[in-house]
Amino acid sequence: MLANKTALVTGSTSGIGLGIAKALARQGANIVLNGFGDSEGPQAEIATLGVQVAYHGADMSKPTEIEDMVKFAASRFGRVDILVNNAGIQHVARVEDFPVERWDAVIAINLSSAFHATRLVLPAMRAANWGRIINVASVHGLVASAEKSAYVAAKHGVVGLTKVTALENATTGVTCNAICPGWVLTPLVQKQVDAKAAALGLSNEDAKKQLLGEKEPSMQFTTPEELGELAVFFCSPAGANVRGVAWNMDGGWVAQ
Ligand code: NAD
Repeated sequence: MLANKTALVTGSTSGIGLGIAKALARQGANIVLNGFGDSEGPQAEIATLGVQVAYHGADMSKPTEIEDMVKFAASRFGRVDILVNNAGIQHVARVEDFPVERWDAVIAINLSSAFHATRLVLPAMRAANWGRIINVASVHGLVASAEKSAYVAAKHGVVGLTKVTALENATTGVTCNAICPGWVLTPLVQKQVDAKAAALGLSNEDAKKQLLGEKEPSMQFTTPEELGELAVFFCSPAGANVRGVAWNMDGGWVAQ
């Protein structure tokens, strides 16, 4: 379905981004990976799916590096057809204790990076009259949790950016939508499981159950594979007139 299309997925060396990259690759899209840590393993995984894969290590907190990455993707594959703004970090602290430097980093990586990548890919998408921009927000783009001020502010911002981008392109073949996962057991969440286990003297399994029990009625983690299939739907012909939604996949978290 996505043969001859190119998807740039930010923060795709692990977790949700890698899951979405693999799902798009299974549909035939060439993939540009981004993110820190090991990039060779993820590149090899994508290559086994029979598509072309490239990697750019832009730090998503740096607009000049984001610009360089978009130029790299265009020079390698001609154009970015699908942009998945996924890179994100978390920091947990009460507002009055929140380190200013962490606030700035969360806003830069979780929110401003999506603005920069979006503004840079839009002209070519508009010229082709086809594009898909998928923003990985969070249930925290829709509701709040204590001690996550920067993350919740950034993710609410991402949902707002999604709606504006969708509206500005509503008469074109370019759509923009957000995905709002509940708990997904990635390194980002395992850190929170570890913190809970340490603070309460719990086993890893009991800390996971407690984390799920607080928020996610299904008592199940959403998986990167499930989120990947939602991204595929947004890219499919049936998704052509889905514009500006913030679609939660959260085991019932925000239904409460
Ligand atoms: P993760 O830690 O597994 O992956 C984050 C990715 O972002 C990694 O590839 C990392 O290298 C990359 N990254 C971090 N800082 C970066 C930077 N400055 N520049 C470039 N890349 C950077 O986390 P994840 O859980 O897969 O999170 C992915 C996205 O999903 C994030 O936006 C997160 O907020 C969102 N999300 C996660 C959950 C969850 O439960 N895990 C829930 C809702 C939303």
